[in-house]
Amino acid sequence: MNNLLKALSFSLLFASCTSSDNELAGVKSNVKNDTVKVEAPVQEKFEYVADKFADLRVLRYEVKDFDKLPLQTKTLLYYLHEAALCGRDIIYDQNYKYNLTIRRTIEAIFRFYKNEKQSEEYDKFVVYAKRFWFSNGMHHHYSSDKFIPECSKEYFTELIGMVDEKALPLMPGQTKETFTKFITEQIYDPQIAPKKVSLDSKKDLITSSAVNLFEGVTEKEVIAFYAGMVDKTKKENPMYGLNSKVVKENGKLVVKKYMLGGMYSASIEKIIYWLEKATEVAENSAQRDAFVKLIRFYRSGRLEDFDDYNIAWVKDTASSVDLVNGFIEVYNDPLGKKGSFESVVSVKDFEASKRIAAIGAQAQWFEDNSSILPQHKKKNVKGISAKVINAVVESGDAAPSTPIGINLPNSEWIREVHGSKSVNLGNIVEAYDMAAGGSVVNEFYYNDEIKKRVLECASLADKLHTDMHEVIGHASGQAEPGVGASSETLKNYANALEEGRADLVALYYLYDQKLIDLGVMPSLDYGKAAYDEYITKGLIVQLSRIKPGKEIEEAHMRNRQMVAAWVYEKGKKDNVIEKKFENGKTYFFINDYAKLRVLFGDLLREIQRVKSQGDYKAGKDLIENYGVKVDPLLHKEVMERYSSLQMAPYQGFIQPTLTPVMEGEKIIDVKISYPTDFIRQMMEYGVNYSLLPSIN
Ligand SMILES: [Zn+2]
Repeated sequence: MNNLLKALSFSLLFASCTSSDNELAGVKSNVKNDTVKVEAPVQEKFEYVADKFADLRVLRYEVKDFDKLPLQTKTLLYYLHEAALCGRDIIYDQNYKYNLTIRRTIEAIFRFYKNEKQSEEYDKFVVYAKRFWFSNGMHHHYSSDKFIPECSKEYFTELIGMVDEKALPLMPGQTKETFTKFITEQIYDPQIAPKKVSLDSKKDLITSSAVNLFEGVTEKEVIAFYAGMVDKTKKENPMYGLNSKVVKENGKLVVKKYMLGGMYSASIEKIIYWLEKATEVAENSAQRDAFVKLIRFYRSGRLEDFDDYNIAWVKDTASSVDLVNGFIEVYNDPLGKKGSFESVVSVKDFEASKRIAAIGAQAQWFEDNSSILPQHKKKNVKGISAKVINAVVESGDAAPSTPIGINLPNSEWIREVHGSKSVNLGNIVEAYDMAAGGSVVNEFYYNDEIKKRVLECASLADKLHTDMHEVIGHASGQAEPGVGASSETLKNYANALEEGRADLVALYYLYDQKLIDLGVMPSLDYGKAAYDEYITKGLIVQLSRIKPGKEIEEAHMRNRQMVAAWVYEKGKKDNVIEKKFENGKTYFFINDYAKLRVLFGDLLREIQRVKSQGDYKAGKDLIENYGVKVDPLLHKEVMERYSSLQMAPYQGFIQPTLTPVMEGEKIIDVKISYPTDFIRQMMEYGVNYSLLPSIN
């Protein structure tokens, strides 16, 4: 497999962009296709790239050896696949109050025209629809800015006009005219809900964010509301606010819980139905126990039940199937309390798990030999469970754009007392690798030696980075006595600092003989490639994702630039990293990899101190001084260089489909298929898993 990867990467070096099916579902794409078709020595040809539009690419991923799984495992995966998709509507509603109404309007237009209408304006509408589905709503999934269709408002109005009134999601008392006026204003008015998640601390974070997690309340009110709930005398506090919307009714703050009989009940009822079926085919009692507790939480809405579920989930380490299904990540809430619905269903990749297990087994060695201060080292690094999994289906906040690893639960006290589980979505990482090719490397890296090394080594180096980030990175370190959770102490900087800390643990060890001794890395060249990649991506390539004039807001991007810019500055006097400017192009060239490693260690020690002591001021300074600002000249240069590659900066996925083969009432097999048409999948989901009212 490694040889194949290399062969493909090398041939792609000479192609300006990777292949793509631009003629999908009769949608004419205006993407220029000057691709050199790559002849890869592949037995079964799996097309990784399915579609490209705006700043997005839609990829596909494969679940190798699915057919070889036992029937019971396949059946379990099918039930969990259904449970995942039954929650899909929730993320649209959480992202913005009228997203489901807009989505159903778009779907109605597609059903009416069957995507056969031909015109430039219609093509623009199609692009808007695809962007909307990709982002689970009308705000960009990454920048969180509202995007507006390129077809005119008059044209959009015309499209709606042709659709039968009964097919449109009219609200009670609305005529088709008032509905059309309302919905097109929602879509087109740049003043309405301009930003999904505002992190601009000069404004009220709640009222300036469009997310539908609060209504009629201010930042101050919400902070005061939750501050009173935390019992400071114990640490086993649940993550208050995780599964609810807060609204003001008659002058009082009221909590609307996501639960059976509460908010999102119609979706949750179906999720429970499929989870109950899953308990009947669970692999073992630990897994069954976790399912049962998750069902109990969905029924009760009690966060203590969610904690019980998470503890049971952490204990289930033997199963080959894993499930994330619930209100998990809090990035969509400017105050970091409300969990977005997501589901990831996965199955163990036995081959790759050996690599990550070798690292996990040495967790204590990594902790003991880390650069952090002795008092911040864990004496017993607990509960690190390391395996590589392959995604089978993802939904909600985890799709179409997806994380490449999972590290849960998020509750800090459960992590401390019961441990956590870390997994790397192996087939997702592989799909990114295969789709990326070598054009970015060719453009942004300094010389042939570096390019060759990155192309050869980056695939494994990236996997090792992700493994260590999740397995020994997030798990490392401890707080000083009396210091609270970092979401309380470091506030809006907690996420970026935590990601930086985990990256730094990985970077520190990527240039260590230990990995060679463990048999997971062939030579230190892989470490060099990882360093070249991190610096070049953090200081140059990722700027291609930022709109002109904007600053960096997303946590992972902030942390990457912060780390790279910090080591660049601190290494200046020794010329550790050299900024070169040749033929109008900027490069960052590493002169001394060993010294760079020391600098990574220094920053790791400092960020661990910031976290362990809850030093808000120092944490804020690191992010604000190194992770946020963008040099406009360099930014402009990067945008030009990047656009010449005709690559899309953001990628997401079409999901595989699981279909049971029935004999009467009995499932006798489950087949997996890999759809190629993004629109068709979105439309099918819109029919099969449309469970919530348009307004919730
Ligand atoms: Zn992370």
